Amino acid sequence: MKLCHFNANRLGIVVDSEVADITAVLEDLDLSTWPSISGDILIRNLEYVRNYAEKYSNSMEHLSLDDIHFHSPILSPGKIIGAPVNYQLHLDEAEADREINMGKAIARIHEIGLFLKATSSLVGPGDGITLQFPDRRTDHELELAVVIGHTGYKIPASEALSYVAGYAIGLDITLRGTEERSLRKSIDSYTVVGPWFVTADEIPDPQILDMKLMVNDSLRQKSLTDKMILNVAELIEFASRFYTLYPGDIIFTGTPEGVSPLEPGDVITASISQIGEMIVHVA
Ligand code: MN
Repeated sequence: MKLCHFNANRLGIVVDSEVADITAVLEDLDLSTWPSISGDILIRNLEYVRNYAEKYSNSMEHLSLDDIHFHSPILSPGKIIGAPVNYQLHLDEAEADREINMGKAIARIHEIGLFLKATSSLVGPGDGITLQFPDRRTDHELELAVVIGHTGYKIPASEALSYVAGYAIGLDITLRGTEERSLRKSIDSYTVVGPWFVTADEIPDPQILDMKLMVNDSLRQKSLTDKMILNVAELIEFASRFYTLYPGDIIFTGTPEGVSPLEPGDVITASISQIGEMIVHVA
């Protein structure tokens, strides 16, 4: 199932080149809980939403993908976790490029661990990226985004994939400089997730996915998720040793080589096999 959040707070599932509007299912969910329970309400109720969609989506209104403005499919992640330098060739390019690493040695993921991106930076592809600090370099980072489906703490890698709700395409937009990653990668609109969210049953092996990112007509990033240093299961094990993972938490799994600067007016086309493609405008 490909679940999307579109236009004016509509909920849909993507079927071929159309979106079936299943917003009515939200009437069945308790969206008014206070204090809010940890995690994203929609992901907590994913099985209910799936059953509803299977039963009723055929009879709901269908819209052409051309009429869809995609927001982030996850609205309220409790946290967005980032994996720094999790592809060897990106580590190599970062070490070779003083502009990226500011002259410092790049610490390995095993030593440096993970970081958090502010949830306020989250947007969908239809919302676009608005660059800040025009005098400084800002790069695109194409990443597989993993959405957690079940609450877990100290999850062993051998069980980790059973905690995954699904996958989306992620862009970890990064201001280069000396500040902490958590600051430079948390600027409004610098976390793009979309275009939809593919449930994990459709992607049994997240390490065999082709990744590709174009800026305008130029190919910038092309890799395969099997080149991750820590794979998805190991990242979940690592992260959950430090913090409880909740439904809707998003893990950005690191970017392959080919990061490059963005300029206002650029158009990013990002694709990951078995998920799809998203187009993101840069302003
Ligand atoms: Mn990144």
